[in-house]
Amino acid sequence: MTLDSPAMDHLANASIKRLSVLAMFVCFNVLGNVDFEHLANKSVTCSLVQSTKDSNQTILVGKLVGYRDTQSRAILVERGVIQNIGVIEEIRARAPYANVINCNDGYISAGFVNAHEHPPYSAGKPGPNVSPVYSNRYQWQGSAGDQYPEIAYSRVENDAQLFWVELRHLLAGTTTMAGNGAVPGLLKNVGSGDKDVGFVYEADMKTFPFPQAIDEFNDLPLPYSGPSVEPELTEGVDTQSPYIPHIAEGKDDLSRVEAQLFLDYVERNPGRRFGLIHGVGLSRSDVPRMRSLDVTLIWAPRSNLALYGETVDVPHLLENDVRVALSTDWSYSGSYNMLESFKCAQHVVDERWNSGVSAKVLWRMATENGAYALDLEEKTGALKPGLAADLVIVKAKTDDPFADLIASEVADVMATFVDGKLVTGDRSAFDLSELPASCSNFVGDYFVCDDLSERDFTWQQLLAINEDAVPLFESEGQASCSF
Ligand SMILES: [Zn+2]
Repeated sequence: MTLDSPAMDHLANASIKRLSVLAMFVCFNVLGNVDFEHLANKSVTCSLVQSTKDSNQTILVGKLVGYRDTQSRAILVERGVIQNIGVIEEIRARAPYANVINCNDGYISAGFVNAHEHPPYSAGKPGPNVSPVYSNRYQWQGSAGDQYPEIAYSRVENDAQLFWVELRHLLAGTTTMAGNGAVPGLLKNVGSGDKDVGFVYEADMKTFPFPQAIDEFNDLPLPYSGPSVEPELTEGVDTQSPYIPHIAEGKDDLSRVEAQLFLDYVERNPGRRFGLIHGVGLSRSDVPRMRSLDVTLIWAPRSNLALYGETVDVPHLLENDVRVALSTDWSYSGSYNMLESFKCAQHVVDERWNSGVSAKVLWRMATENGAYALDLEEKTGALKPGLAADLVIVKAKTDDPFADLIASEVADVMATFVDGKLVTGDRSAFDLSELPASCSNFVGDYFVCDDLSERDFTWQQLLAINEDAVPLFESEGQASCSF
């Protein structure tokens, strides 16, 4: 379906009045080739109008999350980058021949930045031994003695399985994800590996940088004042790129020593972005150091509670101006996606912290703070000119975009965009005949835009090989988020 400029103007104007469906009827009427009966029976909530001019500009219309008001606004995207944000008529005047995607009833947010996943270790459900009986990671790994039940997990290797893991996150609004393991061309991966493999941005995600901790750290005095202990880095990774290891993953002395040694290292080696994953065993004295050293806490609340029965004191970190980013961790003890992380975080806020952390703060943890941790705040994580158009659109249910976002289910996600390109969407929110041909891959209620000719699996093979994997849109079998 193509429209000329006056007809598109009509669409843009109508969108302000929340009349997008009616507008489509009128526009199609202008062209005179409309299937009215088909449209009348369908609840279309996003309309897509392709430019006749083969334009590299796209205008997205909706209510912008984090913007100064909640009126519908337009985002002008050119070659994947946000060029301008403003009143619909003004943006239309700047780009009269742009493609237009109008999700007037949706909240448009920056896509989520999940700063902590392990894609190859995130395809399976938690086993029966996952319970909050551990004090440090070595216990559930089976290397601290037989008295601690080892938890079961497995690694997936092939692209069809990794694609499924990434698709699960994408359908829930994550557009950038850090962790070792990636497939190209779906969401944006951050880690140490080639762009051909899928890594768009580099970071050292060395998981456990103090392998000697189990044998040597328990007996060290705290505060530690002996010779410096160097954490391991990933070979070949640029030392200017962010360094984000798992630190203080537990609640015993070993974990506390790890935190101090890591912060000592950061102090000796400034000049790159640092994040610290988990931090359950942080000491109070670590907190001002994290602020002064600009170390972001990467929070994984479900994983913390499922394994250790505790999580980090986030209100204390926030009171001390320590930046906190929300993450999922792997599927074996973490949240299946960022929306599930929101739910767990909100549960902790309600039960433990007496509502001391707002929905807006949680949203910021999942967008700009994740981007900052990965040194990507000038690339993604916010609705800002110059940044990539990595976006998620969710159904607006109330006047509070932040509350709506963090209460959203996967079913509330209308669409996701990576570099301005529509990647996934809700079938019932679009007229499928308007979508590009690449969007004809279907799973459940969703479509996925991907040219599979570049991949070594078909859509049917993808569905078959992942039959027993963590489901794409349900939280069935997910680890518990309870105290
Ligand atoms: Zn982890």
